[in-house]
Amino acid sequence: MIKASLAAELTEQVLAGKPPSREQGVAILMSRGAQYTAYMAGAHGLKEKAFDSNIRLCSIINAKSGRCQENCAFCAQSAHFATQSPTFPLKSLDEILLGAKQAAAEGSHCFGIVTSGSKPKDGEEFQRILHAIRDIRSQYSIAPSASLGMLTDDQAQALADAGCVTYHHNLETARSYFPEICTTHSYDQDIQTVISAKKAGMKVCCGGIFGLGESIAQRVEFAETLQQLDVDSVPLNFLSPIPGTPLEGRSELKPMDCLRIITLFRFFLPGKPISVCGGREHNLRDLQAMMFMAGASGTMIGNYLTTTGRSKERDLQMFDDLEVQIDDCV
Ligand code: SF4
Repeated sequence: MIKASLAAELTEQVLAGKPPSREQGVAILMSRGAQYTAYMAGAHGLKEKAFDSNIRLCSIINAKSGRCQENCAFCAQSAHFATQSPTFPLKSLDEILLGAKQAAAEGSHCFGIVTSGSKPKDGEEFQRILHAIRDIRSQYSIAPSASLGMLTDDQAQALADAGCVTYHHNLETARSYFPEICTTHSYDQDIQTVISAKKAGMKVCCGGIFGLGESIAQRVEFAETLQQLDVDSVPLNFLSPIPGTPLEGRSELKPMDCLRIITLFRFFLPGKPISVCGGREHNLRDLQAMMFMAGASGTMIGNYLTTTGRSKERDLQMFDDLEVQIDDCV
């Protein structure tokens, strides 16, 4: 009973504009049973206040895959690890546009062009992506987004000028845990890309992945970082261990852990879109529908970058069963 009132107090505090302390964040992640139910109710209330019963869907196209020079330990596309992930060059303009057309027809709000690699190559490749963004903007009722790695200020401005609504760039994990996950670039380089994208006038979609071995305190540290960066939307991914990567065989998260993480981020970023993306089926299993009760306001449908999502029909049935409305495209 005492703990339930802590959840109610925290909800009031957040509604009054004061973010949780690190201790309050840890308390959410440590809560169990009725204590967690109270936090979940608070997170759901915050989500409903910001978004009513609406959810947003996003889709991506894996537009260029494999042979990335970075060594992110969870990633099937890193050239540092022997995985079975396919390798292919940048898709044609027509293939990218077809993906956007399908995503718009399925009700997605946002269509992300995702390429592997630490940064986009200037020249024909980058020009093709800009061309695709301009065409998506003019032809389809869906917001184009891009996830191309680290950007220079000039590249960020070119994307914004082409009509890219959102730039996606994950920080992946807490600063204090990042060196365990990636040693080929720095956390500050990722933060600089977030800053460049914002400066160019794009919205920034920035989140990370959980179940990498990070501690509870580091999950809270990460939520605090995203709150302080004032990112515009947050994708939450849960590790699907890829054979051949250093995290092969690791499976740390239970479905309730995933829900507590979603709730944590809702309390830290009460008015921001929070989407559950990669690893939803593997980690949440039968509790997938509860992600919206826990504070999520959206999800990715269709396939993820290197793993297969469940069928769109099953997801659309789940949304219907939950009586949530799918937001119109912008
Ligand atoms: S997460 Fe991105 S930057 Fe890291 S290895 Fe994979 S493709 Fe490269």
